[in-house]
Amino acid sequence: MATQKKNTAAEEAAKKALEAVQAKKAAEKKKVAHTYTQVGQQSAGKEELLAVTRKNALPYRIGAFILWIIAIVFEVLAILVFVHKIEFSFTVENPGWTITWIVLLVLDLICVIIGSQLWKKANHLDPASSKNKVGFWLHNNLGVIMAVIAFVPFIVLVLLDKNSNKQSKMIAAIVAAVALVIGGLTSVDWNPISQEEMLENAHIETVYWTASGTVYHAYDDCSHLSNTVDLLTGTSAAAIENGKTRLCKTCEARALKEAGEEVADKTSDLTDLTEVTDTTPVQDQAEDSGDQAA
Ligand SMILES: [Zn+2]
Repeated sequence: MATQKKNTAAEEAAKKALEAVQAKKAAEKKKVAHTYTQVGQQSAGKEELLAVTRKNALPYRIGAFILWIIAIVFEVLAILVFVHKIEFSFTVENPGWTITWIVLLVLDLICVIIGSQLWKKANHLDPASSKNKVGFWLHNNLGVIMAVIAFVPFIVLVLLDKNSNKQSKMIAAIVAAVALVIGGLTSVDWNPISQEEMLENAHIETVYWTASGTVYHAYDDCSHLSNTVDLLTGTSAAAIENGKTRLCKTCEARALKEAGEEVADKTSDLTDLTEVTDTTPVQDQAEDSGDQAA
């Protein structure tokens, strides 16, 4: 209940912030030295926008699954080599045997890591809904689960293997455990984005972004754009369609700050209104408030 209230308050603040940005922009109409290009059309509706983001993310999702499947194939091969189901000309004493299963585990790890990066990229292009917290975490961190699938069976089967000596089994389990930790940590999305967060700002009239960036900006003079030569501009929906699904944190903080100042002004106006029993509209009251205080 408390969280619900807090969220609503935050949403209100964000909305006010964005309105403030729009108002400020309309007032300033500032010219900057960047190259402007009008990009894209604003999607008619939420569903249309989500259809585009789904399409943008699809190749990355397919790539992630292909790499994860290859990772599991390498794991199976590593198990088969370890338990001598696949015999090259190696023996247990032959270092070639150790090198083979280690190389297979490393290939397994590489596929897990690249697959997870593709998956994270897909989730940033096409964020999941955060309505179900557990589902949201699982969706964003599917790579962690894949890392577990890509290494835990190896660890278990190696430790259960009756034909290998204890030392080899321990070394194999430790190597796989290290790979599991590396694969797991690199697969976590530490800064996930939700569909709600993306859609919340999808109505801004004018935003700015760069071809290589991952966010869009509310201000063309944002510090992150200081080195930008080719600045692209359009609606936030167009930015989202171009893969920039999140509002820049610096711009968001600035908008919130400006909105905060505006809210503070309004509050003081209201205080003045309650003191002076006048029917003058708030706007006029604001201009007069200085005189009245004096
Ligand atoms: Zn910015």
